[in-house]
Amino acid sequence: MSAELTAPRLRRVRPSPTAVISDRVRALSDAGVDVINLGEGELDFDTPDHIKQAGIDAIVQGDTKYTAVSGTSTLKNAIINKFSKENHLCYKVTEIIAGSGAKQLIFNAFLATVSSGNEVIIPAPYWVSYPDMVSLADGESRIVACVEEHGWKLQPADLAAAITPQTRWLILNSPNNPTGAVYSADELRALADVLLEAPHVLIMADDIYEHICHAPAKFVTLAQIEPRLFDRILTVNGVSKGYSMTGWRIGYAGGPEWLISAMQILQSQSTSNPSSISQAATVAALEQDNGFLAEWREILDTRRQKIMACINSIDGLSADLPPGAFYVFANCSGMLGKTTPAGSVIENDVDFVEYLLDAAHVATLQGSAFGASSYLRIAYAIDDNRLNEACERMIKACSALK
Ligand code: PLP
Repeated sequence: MSAELTAPRLRRVRPSPTAVISDRVRALSDAGVDVINLGEGELDFDTPDHIKQAGIDAIVQGDTKYTAVSGTSTLKNAIINKFSKENHLCYKVTEIIAGSGAKQLIFNAFLATVSSGNEVIIPAPYWVSYPDMVSLADGESRIVACVEEHGWKLQPADLAAAITPQTRWLILNSPNNPTGAVYSADELRALADVLLEAPHVLIMADDIYEHICHAPAKFVTLAQIEPRLFDRILTVNGVSKGYSMTGWRIGYAGGPEWLISAMQILQSQSTSNPSSISQAATVAALEQDNGFLAEWREILDTRRQKIMACINSIDGLSADLPPGAFYVFANCSGMLGKTTPAGSVIENDVDFVEYLLDAAHVATLQGSAFGASSYLRIAYAIDDNRLNEACERMIKACSALK
């Protein structure tokens, strides 16, 4: 059997641009090399005990059967309360869906609404999966470059210029993967003014990093800023990043009833309900005391300062302090043209990432995978000692470049 048997839609999807590095990391680790992975998009903290216990209780009590496709009513009510308490958004139960991760919900939203000829505006740098999901839905990605000088944020004039009669969606991701950028209320207000003039455009607010936002930056979401856009916004969130529950696979979204019901139809014919056990654990995450989030943010802040000091001490690397998420998006253009001790020239960000992996055994990801070349994404949510060690290794490897 051969690759011709794959459907044409699959051929439009890029193999994961980060897969090459991931394969190298795996091969080195398998060979016994001590690789420090600054490529992973997850916190190193354990899921808190009370959340795990709720999952265990669900198993013991026999909550192990199918649930309603869009989630149990207990979970949906917990989500409604979360949106109301933390975001001042008022959703009805028919406007809520839970799925197997935010990823599934984003995918379902596109599949339910995008078809050939539709465009999706994706501000770059972007999470690697957005363009491929758009392709799988037969749509076209309209990538709009955002620049470091503007804090990596979409400018209202650039948004206005990118909107066409074919635009179906705009994606806004704040705090952002990979840059850590956080949109302020004023910045969202300015984008909302443009969107009010384009009533055919739906907006996806991907808020998955909501809880990882450092003062003075303050998390706000678009639906909160402009109630007149409420009926056009899908607010996507989940417990993966903020609650260190990536493996539990629960995401959720609030949006107009017609869209939620379309996403539910897709879910009913594909994955059905997300895991009943994970749903029970998510209820505990959303409803019980989440004071630990502030403690986690403090730990992450210390790590953020550490990695920033490291980056800015390396000649040829620079970055501004990222207000959110747990990534630094570092400019590595000063490394290009340098020669490694083995005599090869670093031509681009992929070469630099490979050099760090080979020489320092530190894994990072090239910015070009996220739509911005000459950068690298460093995920710093790892144990303090390992982060110190990674910094020392990177400093040493970079000082060996000529
Ligand atoms: N959105 C962004 C910006 C992400 O970075 C990720 C995961 O890396 C997701 C969505 C998907 O999250 P989940 O694990 O809930 O599917």
